[in-house]
Amino acid sequence: MIQAHTPKQKFFVDTMLGKLARWLRILGYDTAYERDIADGAIVDRVVNEHRWLLTRDRYLVKRKAVRGRFTLIRSDFVTDQLRQIRTELGIGLAVDEETVCRCVACNHILENIPPAQARPRVPPFVAKQQTHFTGCPHCDHLYWAGTHWSHLQQQLKLLSQAATNPIPDQ
Ligand SMILES: [Zn+2]
Repeated sequence: MIQAHTPKQKFFVDTMLGKLARWLRILGYDTAYERDIADGAIVDRVVNEHRWLLTRDRYLVKRKAVRGRFTLIRSDFVTDQLRQIRTELGIGLAVDEETVCRCVACNHILENIPPAQARPRVPPFVAKQQTHFTGCPHCDHLYWAGTHWSHLQQQLKLLSQAATNPIPDQ
């Protein structure tokens, strides 16, 4: 069963930080991200939806309305970006099958999909091995446990150890 995740913060992630947005969704955070959006519209969403702004834009954060509601991201690399917000905002970097509840592609909450319904839509080896599937009610993306999650866990473990060697940025 997918457990309800109750993140303390909701985020708005600026255009330049798409990879960071995906990671935050993987970690279960409600993360708004849009490719084409004017600065004024970003500010409105941050204020109206009580989101925390993550941006690399020094001019955007000079706006009065976002004062005290943003983190200015320093690095170009998503691993360093995650480290920065872990340090400064105290967000956890743990993920497992149980906590994954949000669509990486569009931020909607995932729903359990009965195996019988999911199996015809996945590769045969997945259908044979997996018993737990979730799907996005908005974009219809299907998720299952397996090599994908162990890869993610490995990456997050490296992050948690605060490794000095950068891990591949993807
Ligand atoms: Zn989706």
